Amino acid sequence: MGRTFTELPARSKCSRCRGRARIGLPSHNARFCPDCYLLFFSTAVQRALKRLSVPREEPLLVAVSGGKDSLTAWDILNELGYATHGLHINLGIGDFSEASRERVDAFARARGLSWSEYSLQREFGYSLPEINRRFQGKICSVCGRLKRQHLNRLAVRENYGNLVTGHNLDDEAGRLLGNLVGNRQEYVRKQSPYLPSPHPYIPAKLKPLYRLDISEIRIYCELRGIEPAEIKCPLSRGATSHYFKEALDMLEGRMPGTKRQFLFAYINTRQGETGQEADFGECCFCGHPAYADVCGVCSLKGQMEAKN
Ligand code: AMP
Ligand code: ZN
Repeated sequence: MGRTFTELPARSKCSRCRGRARIGLPSHNARFCPDCYLLFFSTAVQRALKRLSVPREEPLLVAVSGGKDSLTAWDILNELGYATHGLHINLGIGDFSEASRERVDAFARARGLSWSEYSLQREFGYSLPEINRRFQGKICSVCGRLKRQHLNRLAVRENYGNLVTGHNLDDEAGRLLGNLVGNRQEYVRKQSPYLPSPHPYIPAKLKPLYRLDISEIRIYCELRGIEPAEIKCPLSRGATSHYFKEALDMLEGRMPGTKRQFLFAYINTRQGETGQEADFGECCFCGHPAYADVCGVCSLKGQMEAKN
């Protein structure tokens, strides 16, 4: 991975220890030396975890794609002393999936961490390239749905009540903006860095990186020697969520701090609400929780079979 932060002038002082600062964070109006940066990062994650009220002894299942966000989440939780286990879904997308898997494996080996790998094709019956042939143009949302549903099911199968994902500040703020613009109130209501388990078959969801943005996560990776998969998914076709993130980046560039202000103001107004509502029944095919008669997985499977 290339350098992610620019060197500050030699006279720059760390906002915390007054030693030589190397990393400037305009959105916090702060500069840090590498050690104090790691402390800043870890404090942001601990603040997030405090808000998510997860007891330290509770084991956490970390959904790891092999990308920078989920490897960072896994690394910092491990550093903070949580018992963690990785969960990787191999999507079967050629070199992309091979490289992603290899990064998860290398990361876990170097730190002596345990993880499980599942194949989407084996679990669902179809690989993503096959699904892509049926759902061209919609593959990112179909893949996102499949990943979410399978992560839930696999977490339950692995006996974990808490599922961690690597969603960061940019993901959350971009998603919030998109849902507000589209007036998708049901999604807006469900958006939270912590969703308690609403059903025995659905784990609680935790996003310990929701207070940190992409550039802060990149710096963390560089300082900690984390080498994420850099290869882009060949099936991805510029999802609309990217436009919302770009819009927020533009505002952030002009008014540093806007992104966090936007997301945190929203989260603060919703403190105490649970987010997820238990308004679902059971899928008539597989018995998993579903909002309609058929769950998302069985409904997609039905569409795949019908088109075959
Ligand atoms: P994405 O929807 O690709 O932005 O990913 C959001 C989060 O979902 C990541 O930070 C991971 O925690 C998790 N995730 C994505 N892809 C996978 C995968 N193939 N296996 C396990 N977890 C994943
Ligand atoms: Zn089902």
